[in-house]
Amino acid sequence: MKYISTRGQAQSLDFAQVTLAGLASDGGLYVPEEWPPFTFGEIQDMRGVPYSELAARVMEPFVGDCLTPERLRDLTARAYSRFSHRAVTPLVQLDEQHWILELFHGPTLAFKDVALQMLGLLFEEFLGENDGKLTIVGATSGDTGSAAIDAVAGLENVEIFMLHPKGRVSEVQRRQMTTVRAPNVHNIAIDGSFDDAQAMVKRIFADDNVTAKLRIGAVNSINWARLMAQVVYYFAAALQLGGPERKIAFSVPTGNFGDVFAGHVASRMGLPIKRLIVATNVNDILHRALSQGDYSAGTVTPTAAPSMDIQVSSNFERLLFDVGGRDGAALAQQMRGFDMQKTMRLTNAQREGAASLFTSTRADEDKTSHAMRWAYEECGQLLDPHTAIGLHAAREADVDPEVPVVTLATAHPAKFPDAVERSTGIRPGLPARTGDLFAREESYVELPGTYEDVRDHILGNAA
Ligand SMILES: *Cc1c(COP(=O)(O)O)cnc(C)c1O
Repeated sequence: MKYISTRGQAQSLDFAQVTLAGLASDGGLYVPEEWPPFTFGEIQDMRGVPYSELAARVMEPFVGDCLTPERLRDLTARAYSRFSHRAVTPLVQLDEQHWILELFHGPTLAFKDVALQMLGLLFEEFLGENDGKLTIVGATSGDTGSAAIDAVAGLENVEIFMLHPKGRVSEVQRRQMTTVRAPNVHNIAIDGSFDDAQAMVKRIFADDNVTAKLRIGAVNSINWARLMAQVVYYFAAALQLGGPERKIAFSVPTGNFGDVFAGHVASRMGLPIKRLIVATNVNDILHRALSQGDYSAGTVTPTAAPSMDIQVSSNFERLLFDVGGRDGAALAQQMRGFDMQKTMRLTNAQREGAASLFTSTRADEDKTSHAMRWAYEECGQLLDPHTAIGLHAAREADVDPEVPVVTLATAHPAKFPDAVERSTGIRPGLPARTGDLFAREESYVELPGTYEDVRDHILGNAA
């Protein structure tokens, strides 16, 4: 399998290369040259297999000959052995039509673990072969940082610099990053928003002063391997609920468009998906783009769901490429316009292509809170605010009653205890696997929000 850039200029890469690369050199994102289809029968045969085996089957066509089937199975077994639930991503029923797909049973309590536990092992695997070193630079709105740090802490060939917006991540999120004491882990709090942090990371990738000295890798969902790992649980859920004979709808709380893009990939691979519901909070650039064709960035409003407080959604470019005719040159021009003006119109082809699978809904803080209360009072389920945004969208969406609607539960409620308590009166406790998080000492540096400070800090502290 070869990977090509959404902007058409960068050289194509194989799976090992694309795993270690970040952004493509032309500023685009890597996508598979074509979608590998499963037959209906192949999908039927996946029913009832353990999660790690299902993961290997779904990933195999993307990995190509970069890993043997045995080695891939070895890695998926190791990655998913650290989850606290045997089913890895169990489904919980809410009512006749609605289910919750719990993606938070990994070490850091959010769905990011599902992909990053695998990505850490892939880094080790592909670096080990040619003795390279990788410096990961990432930006986090909270959950990517903790999941990535957990996945790479202590690895020999990988070092990580993680930027988070100061004061805009929850205390649990911050402590999950800053209390990991490993020589290869560096935490940076910047003055600014997540979008500011993400823009700096993009500049690092394109900065010759840095790339001449360090090999920079990505753990944000611009990394293809992350999305690949997320495709698996769409299959897992659909197979549980009667797929592939029955179509399933998914509602996905969305920020950077990574998780829901994985659903699009599952659909392209042949999984019968009725609809993908893109759920946003008041930072609703994706809702405006999908409902009106207007992709324009506003300013970020902090909400109870900080991991979705995003105005520029990196992975949306992958969708625009795929549904808009896969024309890299045209997309490069469109994205250059967006980078300059912070606004662009979707083409008709992009709008129609997206509309065949996607709808979108926006939840303000009241609706988020109401969805949390409904789930608790009517179904006895505590949901975190991100999941609640997904559930709000799922319940608003007008889906045929025969179609099960699965809301992706992207974080454990204990990761956002204040918001959960405000809405339900219940303060969720941290599960035992997080240990003495609040007793451990924190370590991080604070930097002003200027690019040069961040760059110099990385160059000065990289091993
Ligand atoms: C990262 C995250 C999201 C958004 O996921 P994207 O892939 O960026 O769309 C939603 N909820 C939680 C809890 C997250 O950590």
